[in-house]
Amino acid sequence: MRDETEDRQQMVERQIARRGIRDPLVLAAMTDVPRTCFVPAELAQSAYLDRPLPIGAGQTISQPYVVALMIEAMQLEGGEKVLEVGAGSGYAAAVLGRIAHEVYAIERIASLVRLAKKNLAQAGCKNVHVKHDDGTQGWPDKAPFDGILVSAGAPALPQALKQQLSVGGRLVIPVGDDPHSQTLLRVTRTAADAFTQEDLGEVRFVPLIGAQGWTGDQADIDE
Ligand code: SAM
Repeated sequence: MRDETEDRQQMVERQIARRGIRDPLVLAAMTDVPRTCFVPAELAQSAYLDRPLPIGAGQTISQPYVVALMIEAMQLEGGEKVLEVGAGSGYAAAVLGRIAHEVYAIERIASLVRLAKKNLAQAGCKNVHVKHDDGTQGWPDKAPFDGILVSAGAPALPQALKQQLSVGGRLVIPVGDDPHSQTLLRVTRTAADAFTQEDLGEVRFVPLIGAQGWTGDQADIDE
């Protein structure tokens, strides 16, 4: 039987390092996290393919390269407290958990909250905490965060997330007028009332739905 470790190493070398991701913390974390724990059992053979995969409720686990690109953009050094909005399968939160000290992850669809918790437990991720909520409002009780990753596309920058960054903290978020096509932005809080913004290129994410996101069908939140 093929060793999964080899699949992970090949994924990191061919899909991630070869495309320019250099951060050793990101490369090590993605070599370490078993992606098979985060995809449906019937897709286990496809876990290390260079593409997103369906996880149920009309949502996807992102392509490995996109996860690496976004986490590298957070410029983590290790030991931080971070927030992810859009936990989905829990995979990106697990990768963050290999780098940061504590990870708080929010998911708006109840069935995916249960899935993420199950997957994270199976992968042995003890420093990742998942809650069912509208992540556009952030997680005020646990703020401030050194890094915030938004894994869905927003129509504009959610002010609550900016305000929950620590000074020096980075928010990485896809933003755009089209619900399915965005520009990846890195927003850095340089002082209590000052932020800088960098454009990191085009990405395609499912819409961020919530009070400070797109308007969606409220029915699916309890699915
Ligand atoms: N990071 C995930 C992973 O590793 O599997 C993939 C995320 S998927 C591309 C986007 C997720 O964002 C979906 O699960 C969707 O339900 C969720 N989402 C959309 N709007 C949200 C919101 N306001 N709060 C929390 N989650 C949200």
